[in-house]
Amino acid sequence: MPGARCWICHPLRMNTKVSLEDGTMTDTDTQYAIRNRIYPLSFEPICKDYIWGGRNLETKLGREIPAGIVAESWEIAAHPNGQTKVTAGPLAGHTLGALQAHLGERLLGSDDDAVGFPLLIKLLDANRWLSVQVHPDDAYARAHAGELGKTELWIILHAEPGAELIYGLKAGVDQERFAHATRTGAIARTLHRVPVQAGDVVFVPAGTVHALGPGMIVAEIQQNSDTTYRLYDWDRTGADGKPRPLHIQRALEVIDWQMVEPSLVRPRILSAPDGWAREELARCPYFQVERLTGQPGAVWADHCNGENYQIWAALSGGASIHWAEAPVEMRGISWLLLPAALGAFEVRAETDCVLLRIL
Ligand SMILES: [Zn+2]
Repeated sequence: MPGARCWICHPLRMNTKVSLEDGTMTDTDTQYAIRNRIYPLSFEPICKDYIWGGRNLETKLGREIPAGIVAESWEIAAHPNGQTKVTAGPLAGHTLGALQAHLGERLLGSDDDAVGFPLLIKLLDANRWLSVQVHPDDAYARAHAGELGKTELWIILHAEPGAELIYGLKAGVDQERFAHATRTGAIARTLHRVPVQAGDVVFVPAGTVHALGPGMIVAEIQQNSDTTYRLYDWDRTGADGKPRPLHIQRALEVIDWQMVEPSLVRPRILSAPDGWAREELARCPYFQVERLTGQPGAVWADHCNGENYQIWAALSGGASIHWAEAPVEMRGISWLLLPAALGAFEVRAETDCVLLRIL
C-alpha cells in the first residue's frame, strides 16, 4: 500500500488556501493531491462459498478464485458482510466504506443522500437451485433488519441449455393458496419457472419470489442489502448437515402478490453515438442500468460533474477509460467506479465489446 501520498492515511496540510468544496485549486501540491485521490477505482473481489456455488467463475470467465466452491464474487461492496478494497493507485488497500467516509460527496455526488454506499454488485455462479426467497422493501427492512430493502437486477452472462429460474408466482396463486402450500410442502407447484439464456435480463423488485437455477452465471446489481427471507430450500441440508432456517412468516409479510408470471426485461433502445448500440435494462429509484455494445474505435463521451458517480463494466471484450490522467483498461469481466468528482471522460471500445453503464 502506498504511504505518503495517501490522503486517508495522511490528511492534507491545512495551511493551504484551498476550498475542496468549490474545487478552487491554488497550490500545486494540493492539485497533485486532489488529482491523485479521484480516479477510476477498481476493487478486489470478495468470494463467498455458499453451497450452491462451483468453479465456473474460473473455468468460464477466466477469473482467479480461491480453492473450493465459489458461489458469489462481490465485485463492488460496502456492506458489513463484505467490503471490497481498492486495487490500484494512491487509495489502494482502502475499503469502499472508508473511501465513502473520507471522500463523501466527491465519491457519491451531491445528489446522493444515501447513508451507506447504495449498491452492491456481484457475480453469481449457480450450480444448484438457490433457495426460493424474497427480499423486503426499504420500509420493512428498516423496521426489521436495520438496513435497506433489496431490489435487484440480473444479467444472465452464461446459461446451460435448459437453464431455468424462478420469477414470481404462477397464475392463480394468491396469498391464501400460497400460505397453504407453505404448510403442506407443495410450494414448488406455486412458483413461476422461466427458461433463460445468455443476454437475458431479469428485474426483481423487492417482494418478488425468486430463485436462480443451476447452470447459469449472473451479474447482479442490487441495493446494498443482505436481508433475505428464505421460503423453501429444496429439502436439503446446509454445510453443517442441518436444514438452513426458513423465514416463512416474514416472507409472507413482504411478498408482492401482484408479481404473477412477470416477463423478462424487454430492453428499451436508446440513442447512441456512431459505433454503439445502447439499451436501457433498468430504471428504478435505486439504479439505472444501460448496456452498450461497441465496435472497435467507438468513442463514448461522458462526464461525472459532481452530482453522480457512475459504474462501468466490461462484460466482454476490451475498452479503456480516458480522463485527465493515464487511461484505465477494462477487460471482460471487470468493473470501475468513477467518482462523482472525476470530471470529463471518454470510453473507447478497443475491440467488439459489451459494457454496462450504471447510474
Ligand atoms: Zn435475491
